[in-house]
Amino acid sequence: SPALVWLRDDLRLADNPALSRAADGGRPVAALYVLDEDSPGIRPLGGAARWWLAGSLRALRADLARHGVPLILRRGPAARVVGEVASQIGAGLVAFNDRPGAAEAKIDRKVAEQLKGEEREVARDGAHLLHPPGSVTTSAGRMPRTFSAFHRAALKLQVGAPLGAPRRLTGLASGVASEDLDSWELEPRRPDWAGGLRAAWTPGEHAARARLEDFLEQGLAGYANGRDRPDLGHVSRLSPHLRFGEISPRQLLAAVRHAAAEGAAPQADADKFEAELYWREFSHHLLAEVGDIARRNIQDSFDLFPWREAPGELKAWQRGRTGYPLVDAGLRQLWQTGWMHNRVRMVVASFLSKHLLMDWRTGEAWFWDTLVDADPANNPTNWQWVAGSGLDAAPYFRIFNPVAQGEKFDPAGTYVRAFVPELAKLPDTLIHKPWTADAGTLAAAGIRLGVTYPKPVVDHAAARERALLALKSTIK
Ligand code: FAD
Repeated sequence: SPALVWLRDDLRLADNPALSRAADGGRPVAALYVLDEDSPGIRPLGGAARWWLAGSLRALRADLARHGVPLILRRGPAARVVGEVASQIGAGLVAFNDRPGAAEAKIDRKVAEQLKGEEREVARDGAHLLHPPGSVTTSAGRMPRTFSAFHRAALKLQVGAPLGAPRRLTGLASGVASEDLDSWELEPRRPDWAGGLRAAWTPGEHAARARLEDFLEQGLAGYANGRDRPDLGHVSRLSPHLRFGEISPRQLLAAVRHAAAEGAAPQADADKFEAELYWREFSHHLLAEVGDIARRNIQDSFDLFPWREAPGELKAWQRGRTGYPLVDAGLRQLWQTGWMHNRVRMVVASFLSKHLLMDWRTGEAWFWDTLVDADPANNPTNWQWVAGSGLDAAPYFRIFNPVAQGEKFDPAGTYVRAFVPELAKLPDTLIHKPWTADAGTLAAAGIRLGVTYPKPVVDHAAARERALLALKSTIK
């Protein structure tokens, strides 16, 4: 009897245990993707991620079609839809890879029970993480509370070798109708704001692999130091591909280890990259354990924090008009390309939650809507880490100075010039603090502060004092 593989955040053929299992023994296979925005607890995707999903599904459909495997698209609550499609094709086996979110896990349990009740075999695997949630523990059997302890414990566990794409994949000539992808309206029409995304990205498994190859050739050697520099090209930009599972962390780990073993990159750079993959593990295991990390302060002493509401300042932050060039460059990079460099994500998140004293959830929601890699685990965990309410969070007195950060990590102002072109003609020494330039320099650079580029929305020293006072009284 045929097999149905239910694909979710694993939109790839290679290293996909559920797909391999479905293909096992030469059964005819059909694939299913369910756009589920209705089930309780499911957080609908933001705008940029919806755009990515459309491209990713199109690429997946073409890759599966080469093997004659149909991709059936359906919209609706997964608990109902998966059973319906399984019975339409008469599936003897339904295979899927587990997801870490609590609401998703609940749906998956329900689907599995229902299918088993209909005498269908259910195969569940893991593919999104290096280790299943709950498997990285202290000697007392719980998830370690600091990243370094988590990382140490995880390194003691084996990571299996990645699987290839199924060697024999037979498509089911099912004739089961698929919904039309265009009817889901994942991509903007009018206004079409996705031009910057299209220019910057190609979703899909092939593009993910090409990006990995580029990174291994051009980014990995020097990654450990270069990864903090938004003006250099050392980071992999694999995050949206990982988010939608077009490539697996296991494939990345194997590729990076291989590159270091071959001498293509120093071991220290490979180790640093691996450590970032473990930060990803840490936040996903946390999501699986805590559940609603996008809503709830992990440290509940933050529940009484005196967050400010200041819609005008929020708007200035969102649009990259705070008057601090590094902050503005980051937020404009996000708006234009759907992605922001990690160092700058930390600076803009610190600026919102500390300089402007606005609830980290406001910033998390903005990132959720605008990032192509908007991730239910990484986004809230990192926001809480920066704001101070997270597990193993940054110390409360760590308030990034956006000028010093710019001078250190974008020393020639290349990054700022790329995204804040109205400052391009300022000399390097002033590019991160235009308000200190004298009238003649500003005029020569064609800048009228407060007109062509904003004055700082807050004074750094005063904002820092205000934040320290509020944080000191909150942190336990
Ligand atoms: P690389 O440096 O090449 O790292 C490789 C991979 O490691 C990344 O693709 C990512 O999967 C993982 N990784 C790297 N840094 C982190 C980290 N700090 N936490 C968890 N995983 C990490 N990452 C997301 O994938 N989605 C998000 O929604 C997201 N929101 C963030 C919000 C804030 C406020 C901050 C400070 C960070 C956030 N990050 C998020 C983490 C990080 O900024 C991105 O993963 C990284 O910038 C992606 O670029 P890259 O693939 O080139 O990274």
